[in-house]
Amino acid sequence: MSTRHESFDVAIVGAGIAGLAHAWAALRRGLRVVVLERDDRADGASVRNFGMTWPIGQLPGNGLQTALHSRELWLELADASGLWLKLCGSLHLAYRDDEWAVLQEFAATATDDGYQVGLLTANQVLDMSPATNPEGLRGGMRSETELGINPRTAIARFAAWLAEQPGATFRFGTTATAVETGRVTTQAGDTFNAERIIICSGSDTRTLFPEVLARSGVRLCKLQMLRTPTQPKGWTLGPHLASGLTLRHYRLFEACPSFSALRARIAEETPELDRFGIHILAAQNDRGEVLLGDSHEYDADIQPQDKPEIDELILREVRKMIRLPNWTIAHRWHGVYVKHPTQSVIDVEPLKGVRIVTSFGGAGMTLALGYADLNWK
Ligand SMILES: Cc1cc2nc3c(=O)[nH]c(=O)nc-3n(C[C@H](O)[C@H](O)[C@H](O)COP(=O)(O)OP(=O)(O)OC[C@H]3O[C@@H](n4cnc5c(N)ncnc54)[C@H](O)[C@@H]3O)c2cc1C
Repeated sequence: MSTRHESFDVAIVGAGIAGLAHAWAALRRGLRVVVLERDDRADGASVRNFGMTWPIGQLPGNGLQTALHSRELWLELADASGLWLKLCGSLHLAYRDDEWAVLQEFAATATDDGYQVGLLTANQVLDMSPATNPEGLRGGMRSETELGINPRTAIARFAAWLAEQPGATFRFGTTATAVETGRVTTQAGDTFNAERIIICSGSDTRTLFPEVLARSGVRLCKLQMLRTPTQPKGWTLGPHLASGLTLRHYRLFEACPSFSALRARIAEETPELDRFGIHILAAQNDRGEVLLGDSHEYDADIQPQDKPEIDELILREVRKMIRLPNWTIAHRWHGVYVKHPTQSVIDVEPLKGVRIVTSFGGAGMTLALGYADLNWK
């Protein structure tokens, strides 16, 4: 079989959200782009997540601005491509005094930092989300900026829409096996010449520039997830919900005076949650299914098989904050992403004209669109 040799302005490796975001950024600038994806469709973290665009999880400044820019781009994309998106916002729920204290402390300065948040009494929370468990509820924090998409359909829709744009070429079932300045070579021996090459290969840290990724300090992180069937009679969750456990998962709450006591109390009362990095988020998709999660296991702790005890712990904690009409779990799965301990993204240039952009951690759906646009070089 003869090999092919084609030329583009930009070649992108990976059709997850990071690769698609960069493809869109390049196409908007009038460039000719090829996207190479090793599977028949994107199969990584981008199709396994909650589908939450979550600016409220970003630190003030660059992180929040990038997330809010992404939000604008998601809205534009949904409008142009027809992918499903809901403007749902989010609710952080407090069931303990220390959780309520952290939310109050955060909300006191959050508006000045650019967050669109407000505190709610328990009754106001229940009005906004009747799904919330009223037992022991102290109050909540509403945020206006979060979006919901369905990753199982959105990523495919995004790729299909991009493929229709002038200058776009997609090659699925095509693994990039070698990258040098100006050229990507595939497993079939095809070559794609491009002035700029952007590698967005997600959790595959072994194929392209493994030594660069190892040096960067990124870690692999596995998350377990659960999904109910369609809930009955048009039941709705309302906004995305986050638990008090979530306050110890996002760094922006660490500056609150009550944070250390909250973290210490959770570690003492429920060390099993810290052991598996469990916090609780809930989202509902366009099919009425409720997605529940999640856990965080790193590097050597990652096993191919999922741990039933993690699912049980997630469900135990979910029951404290949500009342679902149907608790059947229809699907269980896991996803893996790469994450740097302190940086929100890894963006390095190992060779002239070759960028590796990866390691959005748990925020790729929140950051990648904005990041690709704001950092186009
Ligand atoms: C369970 C879970 C829940 C999450 N929830 C959220 C959330 O609600 N909100 C949020 O913002 N983020 C969330 N995240 C994080 C988010 O999903 C990731 O940050 C993001 O999807 C990473 O995107 P990516 O494009 O870098 O990687 P991926 O989605 O893994 O895509 C990489 C792609 O590159 C392809 N590839 C790899 N190597 C090659 C090669 N050599 N040649 C060709 N193709 C290659 C792979 O097949 C893959 O399709 C969650 C993640 C998980 C796992």
